[in-house]
Amino acid sequence: NLPLFENAIGFAQHNNGPAIDDIRIGKQFSYCELVHAVASLRSSLLDGRMDLNEERVAILCPSGFSYVVCQWAIWAAGGIAVPLCTSHPLPEQVYSMEEAQTSRLLGHVVFEERVNMLAEKTGQPLILLKDSDFYYEESRVPEIFNMDKNRRALIIFTSGTTGKPKAAVSTHDTIDAQTAVLVKAWRWTEKDRIHHILPLHHVHGVINALTCALYSGATVEMHQKFDPKQVWERWAESLSPKKPALTIFMSVPTIYSKLIGYYKTLGEQEQQSYSKACQQFRFMVSGSASLPTPLRESWERISGHILLERYGMTEIGMALSQGYDIDERIEGTVGFPMEGVQVRLMAETPEGSKIFKDVTDTRNVPGMIQIKGRNVFKEYWGRPEATKKEFTEDLWFITGDFGMRTGDKGYFKILGRGSIDIIKSGGEKVSALEIERELLSCPLYINDVAVIGIPDPEWGQRVAAVAVMEQDQASTLDLKVMRDELKSRLAVYKVPSQLRIVSELPKNAMGKVMKKKLVKLFE
Ligand code: ATP
Ligand code: MG
Repeated sequence: NLPLFENAIGFAQHNNGPAIDDIRIGKQFSYCELVHAVASLRSSLLDGRMDLNEERVAILCPSGFSYVVCQWAIWAAGGIAVPLCTSHPLPEQVYSMEEAQTSRLLGHVVFEERVNMLAEKTGQPLILLKDSDFYYEESRVPEIFNMDKNRRALIIFTSGTTGKPKAAVSTHDTIDAQTAVLVKAWRWTEKDRIHHILPLHHVHGVINALTCALYSGATVEMHQKFDPKQVWERWAESLSPKKPALTIFMSVPTIYSKLIGYYKTLGEQEQQSYSKACQQFRFMVSGSASLPTPLRESWERISGHILLERYGMTEIGMALSQGYDIDERIEGTVGFPMEGVQVRLMAETPEGSKIFKDVTDTRNVPGMIQIKGRNVFKEYWGRPEATKKEFTEDLWFITGDFGMRTGDKGYFKILGRGSIDIIKSGGEKVSALEIERELLSCPLYINDVAVIGIPDPEWGQRVAAVAVMEQDQASTLDLKVMRDELKSRLAVYKVPSQLRIVSELPKNAMGKVMKKKLVKLFE
């Protein structure tokens, strides 16, 4: 049986603690209730059949108990779960269903209008579910689900930063590998309670936050969506005996930045108690995008936590992570490979030759990050050619990101995506992430920034910056001021030669800057 199911049944039989605290409906569900609800929905999904045989079933449920029951019931019936983004516009949800070739949709009544439209647009049957469908009183733990771990289990779409989102398929074994390694590295136990505010259609929300918790017998406190005020208020509630203490928080840099923004608007007394509330956490994680140093530092001042940064992607789960020990959380790096994950850096030498040299053991030499291990996904659904293109001949997954090793110990540092963040200007390769870090560290009142390459007939590409200024500081920055400041910090070819100031950067649900949209600003 799958370790995830085996564990859940064990937790149900033994201490049967709370598995999910569903904030939307204000109800807590034990492991026993979870297993029961899964068994029941599994039967109705199967409807007399023995097995769904890897049929794809789309899910559109609010974050909470109903979502987890749907996902696990599809698994227990032998199907592939396809979680849809609850906030996407209709055409994107239709795209996901069509790309994954789903055959039906499990939809929650809170999205009644939308799930009906989806059923109509795709011509697929809808199973409409309401919260009362998920209540169970029995105390006996039901049957064990036997599942072949090499079966396909989950289709998660990539964020679509470089093109159309790709439907990455993971088997149960992939998920198990991705989960087990994180549970061990971050020391999850039954005593943990995660404050879950991330969307469930990305690895960060569905594997790192949700599956790790349920694999460990912990409690997942599931909130609908992120709101800085609600998050701070919830944390403060644990100061009185009103609410149980939270132990883990996972998020992306933009969310930490919004939490800081809200905190700054508060009076001194409130700030003090909110800062104190942060002590309930064992650790806090940042990932999905590079964590800027000033953000890391101001979060430490406010919360007392040094964020644990890790690097991963839809296709591989987490590959690199800073250590759990505080002195292994080195600024600007993402630590070392996770246990069982092989990571290598390959540099094209000479440039343009298509001959790659392994530079993993050489310091400060950038290389393309490639990955091997049980954690690597199986395929892009129905796209064998696209899948093949992402693997080397010796079957390493090509991430598309560049990295290098730094310092005595050789910590890994992420330089960015080859196709977007590695800017090729006048024969030099420039990491956009490095320049962004510098810009945010300068005393220039820049709140947020994106560095991009824009086409240039003479240089190939030119380095350009798009900045969001701190409040009331929009007029203090111009190209000359920026260049003068940066010239003492960076080689001259890295200093942006163009600048635009905007009120906000376009970002997707995971807080990733949609850089392709920014190029237009310079046309
Ligand atoms: P698409 O593949 O559709 O273009 P995407 O790659 O953004 O979208 P995801 O799989 O959600 O989709 O994101 C993975 C990417 O996020 C990584 O390839 C990397 O570029 C970036 N990333 C993740 N963690 C970090 C980190 N700690 N620092 C810098 N970049 C990170
Ligand atoms: Mg990608």
